[in-house]
Amino acid sequence: MAVAGAGGDKPFAKAGPSPLSRVLRISQLDAFELDGALEQLVWSQFTQCFQHFKPGLLTPVEPELKALLQLLLWRFTVYSNSATVGQSLLNIRYKNALIPGQKYRPMSRPQKFWFALLTVGEKWLSERSHSLFLNHPAESNARKARKVLSILMGLTKVASLVNFLLFLQRGTYPTLTERLLGVQPVFRGPQGPRDINFQFLNRELLWHGFAEFLIFLLPLINVWKLKASVAALFSPLKELRGTEGSEETHCTECAVCGEWPTMPHSAGCKHVFCYYCLKSHTIADICFTCPKCGVETGTIEPVRLHVGTELHQS
Ligand SMILES: [Zn+2]
Ligand SMILES: [Zn+2]
Repeated sequence: MAVAGAGGDKPFAKAGPSPLSRVLRISQLDAFELDGALEQLVWSQFTQCFQHFKPGLLTPVEPELKALLQLLLWRFTVYSNSATVGQSLLNIRYKNALIPGQKYRPMSRPQKFWFALLTVGEKWLSERSHSLFLNHPAESNARKARKVLSILMGLTKVASLVNFLLFLQRGTYPTLTERLLGVQPVFRGPQGPRDINFQFLNRELLWHGFAEFLIFLLPLINVWKLKASVAALFSPLKELRGTEGSEETHCTECAVCGEWPTMPHSAGCKHVFCYYCLKSHTIADICFTCPKCGVETGTIEPVRLHVGTELHQS
C-alpha cells in the first residue's frame, strides 16, 4: 500500500511505529472544533446538575469550575494519551517534534504540563481578568497589572494571528501553544484513502431543504380559516343548534376564543368578540367570517352597553 509519508527514504519495520504522515490542515482544525464541542457539552451537563439550586450559584466561581473540568479532561486525554478527544476521534495524536527523527515520540511530561497551563490557564485568565482587577480599581498596582495584562493579551492575539497565517501556509502548528511547546499532530497509523460517505450528507441536505420550505410555507397558510371551513363542512347541524342556543352565551363568550370578551365588539352578526380577536383575524384575513354562524364580518362596533345589562340581569 502506498502511503504518502513525510519522508519515506527508510523502509520501515512492520512491527515498529507507523511512518508519521502529515495531518491535513482541515483535520487539525476539525480536532479543535470537536474539543470545543466536548467542552461545551461537559459544561452544560455540569450546570444541569445544579439547575434546581438557587440561580446564579455557580456564577461567582464559573471560570474556576470550567478550568477544573478542563483539567479533568486534560488528565485523561492529553496527559495519558498525548491526544485530545477530538484528535483521538480523527485518529491523530501529538508528537514531540523537539526530538528530530522519523520515530514517534510521545509528549514529554513538561510538555504536557505546559500544555495544560497554556490552554486551561489562558482561558481561565481571560475570563477571570475582569473581576480580578475590578475589585481594586483605586490601587495603582492593580491598575498597572491590568494594563500589563491587557497588553500581553493583545500581543498574544497578534502572535496567534501570525501563527495561524503561518499554519495556513505550511500546515503545521495551528496554535501558538503547539508551536511554543514543539508538539505536532501526527496520524496514529498509516492512512488509507479518505473514505467519505456522502449518503448521510445528502440526506441531511434534503431534510434541511424540506424544513426550510415548510418554514417558508407555513406562515402563508391561514390555519384558522381552514379550521373554520372544515368545521363548517362537517358539523352543519351543530352550527344550526348553536345559532338557536341561549342568547346569553352570545354575549358572554367571544366567538373566537370562547373566553369572556375583552373590550367586546360585534361585526355584523349577533355574536360578540374580543376586540383583539376580531381585529387580529380581520387583519390576517380580509374575508373573515364569524366562526359561529358563518356571516361575513362587516364594520366593527363596540357593544359595551349591551353586555353590561346582561350582567346585571344574571
Ligand atoms: Zn376572544
Ligand atoms: Zn356570528
